[in-house]
Amino acid sequence: MKRVLLFVALVCISLSTFAAKPKFEVKHLEPLSWWVGMTTPLQLMVNADGVSAYDVAILPEGQGVELKAVHKADSPNYLFLDVAIASDAQPGEYLLRFSNGRTKHDVKYRIDERREGSRERQSFTNADFVYLIMPDRFANGDASNDNTDDTAEKVDRSKPWLRHGGDLQGMIDHLDYIADLGATAIWSTPLLLDNENGASYHGYSCSDYYRIDPRFGSNELYRTYVEECHKHGLKVIMDVVPNHSSTTHWWYDDQPFEDWTHQWDSYTQSNWTFSTNMDFNASKADLYQMESGWFDRSMADMNLDNEYLLNYFKQWAVWWVEYADLDGFRVDTYPYNEKRPMSEWCKSVMAEYPNFNIVGEVWTSSIPQLAYWQGGNYNKDGFNSHLKSIMDFPLHDAMRSAMCEGGGDGGWGQGMTRIYETLSHDFVYHDLQNMMIMADNHDTERIGDVCDGDVRKLKIVHTLLCTMRGMPQMLYGDELLFRSSDRSMGHPTLRCDFPGGWAGDEKNLFDKSQHEGDAKVLYDYIRKLINWRKSKEVIHSGKTLHFIDRDNTYAFFRYNDTDVVFVYVNNSGREHEIPWERYEEISADLFEGVDVVTGETVTMKGYKVAPMTALVVEFKR
Ligand code: CA
Repeated sequence: MKRVLLFVALVCISLSTFAAKPKFEVKHLEPLSWWVGMTTPLQLMVNADGVSAYDVAILPEGQGVELKAVHKADSPNYLFLDVAIASDAQPGEYLLRFSNGRTKHDVKYRIDERREGSRERQSFTNADFVYLIMPDRFANGDASNDNTDDTAEKVDRSKPWLRHGGDLQGMIDHLDYIADLGATAIWSTPLLLDNENGASYHGYSCSDYYRIDPRFGSNELYRTYVEECHKHGLKVIMDVVPNHSSTTHWWYDDQPFEDWTHQWDSYTQSNWTFSTNMDFNASKADLYQMESGWFDRSMADMNLDNEYLLNYFKQWAVWWVEYADLDGFRVDTYPYNEKRPMSEWCKSVMAEYPNFNIVGEVWTSSIPQLAYWQGGNYNKDGFNSHLKSIMDFPLHDAMRSAMCEGGGDGGWGQGMTRIYETLSHDFVYHDLQNMMIMADNHDTERIGDVCDGDVRKLKIVHTLLCTMRGMPQMLYGDELLFRSSDRSMGHPTLRCDFPGGWAGDEKNLFDKSQHEGDAKVLYDYIRKLINWRKSKEVIHSGKTLHFIDRDNTYAFFRYNDTDVVFVYVNNSGREHEIPWERYEEISADLFEGVDVVTGETVTMKGYKVAPMTALVVEFKR
């Protein structure tokens, strides 16, 4: 009996001890590490139950790493620590000591040396050709990670809207293919953890900003991927999404601050009207709903006006560049963020990496609205986005409409005139060298669908991409005439699997010997042009001179002091003779040139261009 009592007493004591002293555990400490010599200030976010009741110290002292301030949040489970790192601080392992008078707990934290030349790193420019990949749909290089215990959605390749198993290893395995095509940069849609229950394949609902989704690989494998890309002459552009995070994000149910995300009494979607950002007739109510409404029920809208969150995103971006050795960023849904903090974010990243490039998704057909978002643009309200590059959606729209009107004679304002008209607005842009141009992306209809599989139209589109001003970007598979299996479904089937990316696929289109028919014709044509463009400064940075089209044709020249490239598009249904004399102001001394596609010498006078054909001819001055 005594023994039983003793046992009960011991259990009670140990339970009460346990209750009084819950195990102290830092669940999240972000950024995961840092470096000596960074411009961006370090503010660590610590997440641990009851951490706000603890004192914090950084050890060892006297090594140049010093705790400057400790900030409490609204939740007792967070602390924000301002850490100063002297330029001569000792790299290595430090300890964060959490103590509350009774107990103390040490957590390791690494401060590393930076890569040599990290600050001066170069980025993507108008000399690059960007290949856009949706990792889940590109290639499954590691079937063992298709499903993991710690992620919700399981792979099901039979359903277009579910995960298919593509991953980083699959991308690494096919870098040869991408480099051989002539691309010099890869933008992949997000690779960070997206732990939604379904349709998580797109990755735009982030559940952890510091973790590569285990179904894609790991942080280490991402670093390997970047290294392998660099070996293949490919730059890496990371897709970043500060506008929203997933309601499955680890912080969602216990957010540091009440205003960390925008909360509404009942679900309120953004009104998607980002003209409210510069429309001085717009109501405050509409502006607020635009920037604070949610993108989707599962995508909590982040409040960048919270200074801790803004700091979090500034150092998060820099962390990935430094950790993975990145070459650029693409920012999702750029104008839906609070614009002033977002511009501070761009400024901050650019201060860390002065040669860096960031391209923002500003999805608008309005040229003046698009121009507003490019850093340095003259805006009446004084706003400067500090965003270096913008995506040229107005040109995208014009190209697609023109292709839909291919084969006809082009009525007033139709056909190729649309492209002429769009370029006639180039005077509003601050920096034409940093316009990303594209015929589609993962969100729009595939250009193969828009052109209804007409290889003649697709050749014209890719001729334009390879010769017009700006930085061309192409969606994976466009080079092989990929089309949606069910166009009416939208996203899920235009984001199709690359045949050959999965073991057991009937065809392997990564293997050129398996290309056939129109897809082969298109692939060979595009590959030729992209590779030709690589070394052509006249295309990268030359000026443009274009002529008012006649009958659904379009003529333009790219030129600099030494070279001239002439592009003629006959988008009509009948043959056209090139009116060379009409271009006299530039063509007077140009008689013979080289057809870039065939390699043949051609005489321009009297040259006839077949219906639905593009011609690219280069001249030496
Ligand atoms: Ca996989």
